[in-house]
Formats: sequence, C-alpha cells, structure tokens
Amino acid sequence: MKIGFIGLGNMGGPMAANLAKAGHEVAGFDLFAPMPEGVAKAASAAEAVAGADVAITMLPNGAILRSVADEIVPAMAAGAVFCDCSTVDVASARAVAEQADATGLGALDAPVSGGIGGASAGTLTFMVGGSDAAYAKVLPLFEIMGQKSVHCGASGAGQAAKICNNMILGVTMIATCEAFALADKLGLDRGKMFDVVSTSSGYSWSMNAYCPAPGVGPNSPADNGYKPGFASELMLKDLRLSQQAAQDADADTPMGKLATALYGNFVEDEDGKGRDFSAMLPRFAKRHRV
Ligand code: NAD
Repeated sequence: MKIGFIGLGNMGGPMAANLAKAGHEVAGFDLFAPMPEGVAKAASAAEAVAGADVAITMLPNGAILRSVADEIVPAMAAGAVFCDCSTVDVASARAVAEQADATGLGALDAPVSGGIGGASAGTLTFMVGGSDAAYAKVLPLFEIMGQKSVHCGASGAGQAAKICNNMILGVTMIATCEAFALADKLGLDRGKMFDVVSTSSGYSWSMNAYCPAPGVGPNSPADNGYKPGFASELMLKDLRLSQQAAQDADADTPMGKLATALYGNFVEDEDGKGRDFSAMLPRFAKRHRV
C-alpha cells in the first residue's frame, strides 16, 4: 500500500519504519523528527498523503490533530482512509472523522497501548473506532505494527477504550503504590507483599507485570531508577482526557478524578516529571499521613 505518515516521534518513527520494512511505500512528514529508515521525506503533510491509500497520524494532542486534518483531508484521494493513532480527546476524534467522512474518506481513531518498546517491536495493541470497511482496509497495517487490534465500535470508540483503560491503570498504580508504602510502615517485606498480592485478589497489571517496587517481581522501570517506561506526564495527559470525557458525558468518576489530581501534583509541583508513573511508590514511601 501507499502510506502517508505524519508525526514521526518516539512512537510514529518506529511504527512507520516497520511499515516500510514490511514492503509498503511510506512517505513521511514531521516538523522536527528525522525520517526513519525506509521512509521517503515529504515536503509537507499534504504532500505525504497525496495519492496514499492510507494516511496515518501519530501526534501529540487533539488541537494539533485538528490542524493537520485541515491540511491533509482535502489532499487525500476519495476512498482513502485517514487513520489517527494519537491519543486525543473523544470530541476531536469524532470531529476529524466527520470531516473525513464528509469528503468521501474513511476514518478511524486507533490509539495504541504498548509504548515505545511495543512500537519498535511491532507488538502494539490498537483500539479502533470507525466503519467496518475502513477497519478492514487498515487491518493488514495494524497486523504489522501490532500484535492485536480490537474494533471497538463507531468513531470515538477507540479513544473511549483507551482512556477508560488508562484511567483504571492510573488508579490501580496509585492503589498498589500506597499499599506498598503502608506495608513498609507495617514492617512487611516487599517481596512477601508481592508474593501474596500477585496471587491474591489484589492482583493487577500494575502489581504483577509492572511492579513499582525495585528488585521485586518482573523487571520493570522500578529496577532502572524509575526511568520511563511510561512517563508520569503521559499518564497525567490520559487521566485528564478521561476527566474531560467524564465531564462531557456526565459520568461520575471519583477515583479517576483523585488519580488525576495526584498525578497533577506529582508532575507539576513535585519531582514526577520525566520519571516513570510507578515512581508514585517512592513518593508515598517518604510521605506521612495527611
Ligand atoms: P512525540 O512528541 O515523540 O512525537 C510527536 C511528533 O509529532 C513529534 O516528532 C512532533 O515533531 C510531531 N508533530 C507535532 N506537530 C506536528 C505537525 N503539525 N505536523 C507534523 N508533525 C508534527 O510523541 P510520542 O511519544 O510519539 O506520542 C505520540 C502520540 O502517541 C501521543 O498522542 C501519545 O499520547 C501517544 N502515545 C504515546 C505512548 C508513549 O509511550 N510514548 C504510548 C501510547 C500512546
């Protein structure tokens, strides 16, 4: 396929490289990032998508996505699919899909989980919103860039799945970290705590697969000085998107709201910026009851 790829940063760069390596013809555009191997440099976003079967975007936020959409939608050929893989607000995902649909394009919102490691290894999970026809067209590309894709429903459903998942992740990471900090103060060994909880009803991905305590459980960013991994500021971004969506949809999400406030303090008023989101454990460990 002919693919135009806009946004070749930490995630988009390796994703585009994997598509090129698999034999697709990829033209790329980014304001700053260098072209990955096998990707032809276009002079503009519009040039990258001209004549493409699929345009893929991997951008920082909804405002930038909307401005790139204004540029590329008129430049795309009828019948092509605009597939946005960024994590953005549900409202922007739906607005861009409507804009594409109005000019005869297919549109998908297809945010990912799996991080930079998953993008490089081609093992991302895609959560996809949009029509059956658009999903069927892009599925072979999801299979190159990832190991799993779930067609979640109509436009916006992919972003909805992503922010609900990450709201659970933020909340369970905080719960896991505060429980470790309490266990410390009760004199319970962290290894014993892991052995019990990881095989009991308190288990979760945060405990079992990404344990925030160094030297305990599988290898994780905690074993690497809390170098990300998944940076606290990215968790804060996703939690804020969950709260924006909860506001728009009139949903009561008290735990999500508290997790957003805690990561907000951690990133903006404390030392969380640039540290993995599991660094909530040393944060709690040095605190006292308030
Ligand atoms: P990044 O900042 O490394 O990459 C974004 C790229 O977009 C940059 O290279 C930037 O120059 C480019 N860009 C910005 N405006 C542009 C424009 N108008 N035209 C062309 N290029 C433009 O960010 P990232 O880590 O690659 O994340 C991208 C998206 O993926 C975000 O929405 C993020 O939330 C999501 N995401 C990231 C991770 C992760 O672990 N990094 C995991 C899952 C999802």
